[in-house]
Amino acid sequence: MLGTRRAPPKAPMDRPPPLLIRHATLPDGRRGVDLLAIDGRFSAVGPALAAPVGTELIDAQGWLLSPPFVDAHFHMDSTLSHGLPRVNASGTLLEGIRLWGELKPLLTEEVLIDRALQYCDWAVARGLLAIRSHVDVCDERLLAVRALLEVKRRVAPYVDLQLVAFPQDGLLRAPGALANLRRALDMGVEVVGGIPHFERTMAEGAESVRLLCELAAERGLRVDMHCDESDDPHSRHIETLAFHSQRLGLHGRVTGSHLTSMHSMDDYYVSKLLPLVAEAGVHAVANPLINITLQGRHDGYPKRRGMTRVPELLAAGVNVGFGHDCVLDPWYALGSADMLEVAAMGLHVAQMTSLAAQRQCFDAVTVNNARILGLDGYGLDVGCRADAVLLQARSPEEAIRLRAQRLCVLRGGRVVSRMAPATAELALPGRPARVDFTRQPGAAPQGAGG
Ligand SMILES: [Zn+2]
Repeated sequence: MLGTRRAPPKAPMDRPPPLLIRHATLPDGRRGVDLLAIDGRFSAVGPALAAPVGTELIDAQGWLLSPPFVDAHFHMDSTLSHGLPRVNASGTLLEGIRLWGELKPLLTEEVLIDRALQYCDWAVARGLLAIRSHVDVCDERLLAVRALLEVKRRVAPYVDLQLVAFPQDGLLRAPGALANLRRALDMGVEVVGGIPHFERTMAEGAESVRLLCELAAERGLRVDMHCDESDDPHSRHIETLAFHSQRLGLHGRVTGSHLTSMHSMDDYYVSKLLPLVAEAGVHAVANPLINITLQGRHDGYPKRRGMTRVPELLAAGVNVGFGHDCVLDPWYALGSADMLEVAAMGLHVAQMTSLAAQRQCFDAVTVNNARILGLDGYGLDVGCRADAVLLQARSPEEAIRLRAQRLCVLRGGRVVSRMAPATAELALPGRPARVDFTRQPGAAPQGAGG
């Protein structure tokens, strides 16, 4: 079961009994599917499976069973700090960075661990079982690095936490940042981060991308940079990131996060850029909640939406994920670890309203993010780790529409969270006594059932 905040579970947890989930609907539209989990992995998937003796049973009642949500972009060192030491008055990215700078000297390892563990509790309850978090390395003490490495160890039985060494104040701009970043990697942080648009000049931004990609290639690590998080159409560090990924053979291991300047770029230039990004195997991560609130702050009207070109990137063959980025911190005053809220915002901002596009938004918070993190054994196939979330919805698009209840969350074939279905008791003459907000099976549009 879930670890409590002050008494972490003793890993490894003992072996769970076999678990059989009956009558599930899967994201690809298959209905009436049973899944048997033995020793933490799915050992059979199909209709009407036999239950071995001593098997625990869950009747999914036709609800949607999905592999767990994955967040490809988060900041767990700043989460739940909103209002400390003050709120972000302008609402801009740059004031958020200043505010975080004011807060940093006041932080303690214990407070950071406590907030991160609380966030992970929320994540599990939302069926979010893998998170890539950036951790600020622009601090001689590397306090946040130490804290999040400890959190990673404690939550390992129920959340995969992947850490990115993130030079928030600029790799070349902040004194000692490169040395600190190397120290963080030595301590066990596993992904190389960067922030080229925050360096002093475009040239230094490009230089930081080169240095960081070479460092990652040398150490055999993945790269995930905050890249072009700006309304400036001339911020083109994604081009440099794709160039060095290609040059160093880092295909599939590099991610460009945010890429918001692409929203403002010239269409002709983008038509050249997208094939280069695809060819270099660079993943893209949009952060819809944050992009729609932070970008365009300097605009009059019309005011830019700011989010990167998600449908166009997908059409070019780029793997695109959505991240939550922030929850209750100097940059964002809302959020609750709900990746369906993230998917819903991405869908709206990018106008991805067709059935196929809505499914792509669901993929952007599940399978696409799993590819970005390089998760092993992710999915609902035989042999995959028995991690899953049962949603009170009958299809991925309904899950997004309703921000569906997470009826049950499984980790390694064990139930780690349960939530009551969302229903209302009605007191109306001649109307049903109960409503939930789902559509009846068969009422979905043609093709929705797969
Ligand atoms: Zn970020």
